[in-house]
Amino acid sequence: MSDSKWSVEDAEATYHVSKWGNGYFGIGEDGCLTVNPNGKEATQSFAIKEVIEEMKTMGVQFPTVIRFHDILRSQVKHINKVFRDVIEEADYEGRFLGVYPVKVNQMREVVEEIVDAGAKFDYGLEAGSKPELLSVLAYNNNKNSLTVLNGYKDEEYLRLAMIGRKLKRKVVVVIEKFSELKPLVEISRQMGVEPMIGIRAKMTVKGRGKWESSSGDRAKFGLTTAEILRAIQFLRAEGLDHCIKLFHFHIGSQITDIRSIKEAIQEGGRIYAKLHQMNVPIEYFDVGGGLGVDYDGSKTTNESSTNYSIVEYVSDIVYGLKQICDIEAVPHPNIVTESGRAITAHHSCLVTNVVGEIDNTAETLDTKRTTGEHILVTNMRDLEENIDQLSSLQEAYNDAIQIKDDVNNGFKLGVITLEERAKSETLYWRVLKKINDKLDDQEFVPEDLQGLDELLSAQYLCNFSVFQSAADSWAIDQLLPICPISRLDEKPTKNASLVDITCDSDGKIDKFIDLEGERKTIPIHKLKSDEPYYLGIFLTGAYQDVMGDMHNLFGRLNEVHVYSHEEDPKKFYIEEVIKGSSAELVLSTMQYNPQFMAFTVKKAIDKEVVRGSINPREGVRLIDFYEDCLAGYTYLKTSDNKK
Ligand SMILES: *Cc1c(COP(=O)(O)O)cnc(C)c1O
Repeated sequence: MSDSKWSVEDAEATYHVSKWGNGYFGIGEDGCLTVNPNGKEATQSFAIKEVIEEMKTMGVQFPTVIRFHDILRSQVKHINKVFRDVIEEADYEGRFLGVYPVKVNQMREVVEEIVDAGAKFDYGLEAGSKPELLSVLAYNNNKNSLTVLNGYKDEEYLRLAMIGRKLKRKVVVVIEKFSELKPLVEISRQMGVEPMIGIRAKMTVKGRGKWESSSGDRAKFGLTTAEILRAIQFLRAEGLDHCIKLFHFHIGSQITDIRSIKEAIQEGGRIYAKLHQMNVPIEYFDVGGGLGVDYDGSKTTNESSTNYSIVEYVSDIVYGLKQICDIEAVPHPNIVTESGRAITAHHSCLVTNVVGEIDNTAETLDTKRTTGEHILVTNMRDLEENIDQLSSLQEAYNDAIQIKDDVNNGFKLGVITLEERAKSETLYWRVLKKINDKLDDQEFVPEDLQGLDELLSAQYLCNFSVFQSAADSWAIDQLLPICPISRLDEKPTKNASLVDITCDSDGKIDKFIDLEGERKTIPIHKLKSDEPYYLGIFLTGAYQDVMGDMHNLFGRLNEVHVYSHEEDPKKFYIEEVIKGSSAELVLSTMQYNPQFMAFTVKKAIDKEVVRGSINPREGVRLIDFYEDCLAGYTYLKTSDNKK
């Protein structure tokens, strides 16, 4: 049902899809959200709703993570292509050799896809812990690409890294702490290989924003300039200073302001040049991560945005470094980035079904006058009926609040009945709604009335857990774009905030993107009783996908992996479905024994059967049901969600 006064352009102005979509997401003429997984140049777009329909026929329950693998590939290609183009244009003499930091999304399929798409660019991997190192040793076997190892290291870590050297791979151990050098030298000697050593510098430049403590004087990682000099001395004495191959810094994730990048290149570039002049033959200049994602589409220095494009980012690095190297008369080093967020954020989204609405203001209680009703109820009704005769909306509001307070006090004193209180509450919300409707025509909205819209907004109950699927939205107020999957050709007539199904009041989303900052509610459609309503939470591929916790024992989500396919009538196919956590799985991680639990419940039921209070067939059904639920998905099963 489309609205003649509402167009998909209005939907774009409401949800800003093309602004955060980065060429991958758009709105179709039929009001369906579309995805174009091969990026701007390609034209194989299809509706996400189609993917959902197919998922339903396969019995995949919501909530579900959808991964568009082609988006991952496109992003890997894009960053490599931009670097190649800028390097050529600038006559820069080094190469670009990016690495993907697996911590941003360690899913095997994600890592495999990135390695595969990056193979022809010699795109490598970065690890920051022992388990990550174990995975990159197994998954990066390209001898021309880098494996960069950050994070604190013990002897096992260093020994594993030297296995990579034995396999003739370019495994660089980045020294985060001076004390890591001595064991590295000893272990590499024992194993008979030369290490490739990276030096991480503590920079004075700060990234600004939520991750700015990654650099500066109190940063956790990296060597001060004095420590760098001591490291060189130490390695010289060991005859290994020629093993210092890489210079590294990382000033924080989601750098919102391009100035921070320029400054970091200035500072880092000079350190590199001075080290080179001391005959330290550094070949790689590693600028770390930080390339930001424009989550809110505002192109600003908002914490969830960036004021630069990837082309500007790359240009600032290449041209900035070239200039310093030329002035200092040192060779142009190969450039390494460790971009994770920018590579993975767009490729996955979460689809949740709205399972209900919580609206305290929508009661339709009969409020007709009854004989002998309390005068306060009559007053509230008169206020509602005669609101236009009052001199101002503020006055109407003041009266409503006053009467409501009096009613509540009267109720506590026993002079107002429960029915009267219910009537006056219902009338009260009607008064507030009338006031709010009239505010649209007002030039000046008094302060008291500014919060009315939010007060009157509904809460949509969505089948997901914020803690599992949007951890940063809860932990650090990160904004993520949210948009209905269809009905975008229809005017959204409500404003709502979203609440999840955990029993935690923090389990909600009440900050939404808005080009002028952020808003507390999202414009949304009225729910229909005969039609499921799906919302997508987008750009969840970086960090959100893998950081979730087990609050309320809602475990990992179902996942579908989607590939685009030109020849397919639907333009895509679902390559794989990965089942999310079952109840028994999450219970076992908390040391429960599901088999024993089923046994215990069965024994209790059997006892009642023996006593005759449960019929034997019913007893069997009850225990079967208990076991099915143990084996089933942890999230809500709703009518559109049944197998
Ligand atoms: C987290 C991290 C990255 C990834 O940063 P993004 O901003 O996601 O690109 C890169 N390098 C290091 C050392 C990191 O700790």
